[in-house]
Amino acid sequence: MTAGFLGRFQPFHQGHQQVVEKYRDEFDELAIIVGSADKEREEENPLSFEERKEIIQTCFPEIEVLPLEDEEKTEEGNKRWAKKLEELDIDTVMSQNDLVQRIVKEKTGLELIEQELFDPGIYSGTEVRRRIRSGEEWSYLVPKCAKRKIEEFTQEIEESGIQYEFKPGWKKENIKRK
Ligand code: NAP
Repeated sequence: MTAGFLGRFQPFHQGHQQVVEKYRDEFDELAIIVGSADKEREEENPLSFEERKEIIQTCFPEIEVLPLEDEEKTEEGNKRWAKKLEELDIDTVMSQNDLVQRIVKEKTGLELIEQELFDPGIYSGTEVRRRIRSGEEWSYLVPKCAKRKIEEFTQEIEESGIQYEFKPGWKKENIKRK
């Protein structure tokens, strides 16, 4: 059985790494499906598919990393997206995302697994991006094996999306747009 662990991986962090390590032996194969694969660089999606794949494969060179482009988030768009997901040659989708779960159950014949989340309050792509953009320490949130590779892309992360200035000791009320 082949499972696909779906997410945006913006960027791959220790929570994602722990999922791979926990589940990889439960299936014949575990692939990583990178969602929003064709999005223009923006606040929530600063890294391209290729950059995300490089980061993931620095830690897990043997794991297949597959792109999945978004469709409109309408009934029809979700149907097209579900069809592309089915065409990826997997039997099982691993996701904690409510919309993904609904689409997989209603529009595909794939099995669904809700993977365990490892310390989601600590490991978060949003937090890694915020720390990189504000010049705070971020590397302890990502796998050691991925740190150098992510460093290569910090400029892309800093420059995409809204530019903020942060005072040390982050507080929401201290955010200033540049
Ligand atoms: P997700 O990977 O399920 O993530 C949901 C939340 O859980 C995020 O906040 C994520 O934070 C967090 N998370 C994920 N794995 C974690 C872990 N192991 N430990 C701790 N926290 C974890 O959802 P997603 O990133 O939005 O990915 C779904 C993809 O499917 C997207 O690309 C979406 O566009 C696509 N999609 C497309 C359509 C369509 O085109 N019509 C429809 C449905 C879904 P992090 O920021 O830390 O990752």
